[in-house]
Amino acid sequence: MDAEDNGREANVTIEPLIDGIFEQVARGRFSEVHFDPFEGGLRIRYRRDGELADYMTLSENDAGVPNLSFKAAAASMIGRLKELAGLDPEVARIPQDGFITRSFPQLDKTLHLRISISPTQWGEKVYLRALGPDIAIVGFERLGLDPIASRRLNEAYQKKGGVIIISGPTGSGKTTTSNAILQLLNNSERNILAAEWPVEFAFSGINHVDCKFDIGYSDEVAMREFLKQKPDVIKAKLENREMSELVFLAAARKNSLVIGNIHVNSAAAVFARLANLGVPSFDTANYIFLSQAQRLVRKLCDKCKEEYSPSPALVRYLKIDEQFIGRVELPQVAPSELTLFRPKGCDTCGGTGYYGRALVCESLKVTPTIGELILHRATEAAITKAAIEEGMLTLRDAGLRQVILGNTSLEEMMIRV
Ligand SMILES: [Zn+2]
Repeated sequence: MDAEDNGREANVTIEPLIDGIFEQVARGRFSEVHFDPFEGGLRIRYRRDGELADYMTLSENDAGVPNLSFKAAAASMIGRLKELAGLDPEVARIPQDGFITRSFPQLDKTLHLRISISPTQWGEKVYLRALGPDIAIVGFERLGLDPIASRRLNEAYQKKGGVIIISGPTGSGKTTTSNAILQLLNNSERNILAAEWPVEFAFSGINHVDCKFDIGYSDEVAMREFLKQKPDVIKAKLENREMSELVFLAAARKNSLVIGNIHVNSAAAVFARLANLGVPSFDTANYIFLSQAQRLVRKLCDKCKEEYSPSPALVRYLKIDEQFIGRVELPQVAPSELTLFRPKGCDTCGGTGYYGRALVCESLKVTPTIGELILHRATEAAITKAAIEEGMLTLRDAGLRQVILGNTSLEEMMIRV
């Protein structure tokens, strides 16, 4: 009998495959999994340390799953994912969204995944994304922040009636940092609200609104509701004029602390962007406590990274001198005796030379001097210059600090920062 007709047999074969994928996600190695149908097959890819890579392909040429035709395997796999998410197995022509929760007692971990299924020309595309973190974050150092950024964030998140901006391009870890702050603030005395689509994490104590745009329940509508509920802490995206107005209203009138995410490239660029969105410079100067721009860099694999001595010319080019080493708060070492590391590749890191990621941050504190500059609509460059004079590490400084520490490679820092 053809295995294609035997649903039970298909499930027996598919189950370990899906479990294997989930386990990689639970171990924190995969943050996303994509099931992409194409003519004559299904390609499974995962995202690890920010990069997409192939996991396996089910196709006519490469069956992938023994005793099953690729079509049966793909159908069975997507059917099983729908079943786990409680979605309608019969629906294949319109998009479906849901959640999957799986426990991994051996890892002491519960995995929460968001699943989104969309029909494409060649079949259904499935996108799985890990919602995290579900571990308690004890401090910002755990995120890989340098001591200067950690101190500034620690000071800012304990205040009220203002805004902390976390900015950066897509994939720069804005959500991770914002969620770490929410987790630190999460206790029974605080009313914490977050409007976000799609929901990026799930933990108790935080009222998380999953916006439904199809029925008109947008971030703005959610935010207007929040303002009636004495919010202590709000997480919001500052993407348009209305949302930005609501954020500053919450800070000024409701004494809320707002963790605001915005898509700009530097800490000082936030002020001009908000001015363009119609926020008065009086508000940005007075209510923003801290503007943090960030990037994620891949960390070198500790098992295989290779030590090398950079040439004196390279050290000069990078402007690494005693003064720099002191400014980024690293133990003093003569620049001529500097040791750096580069990736090699081993079984642990899957041959990439990298394992995990670290944050690189530019943390701009709005002091009276900076506030004056913002009020007078100073340029991004002028604000950055003043902030550096007041001790801010630029993204480049913070990135180079990670390089000197041996946490990442010079190449990686140059590409991402
Ligand atoms: Zn390695």
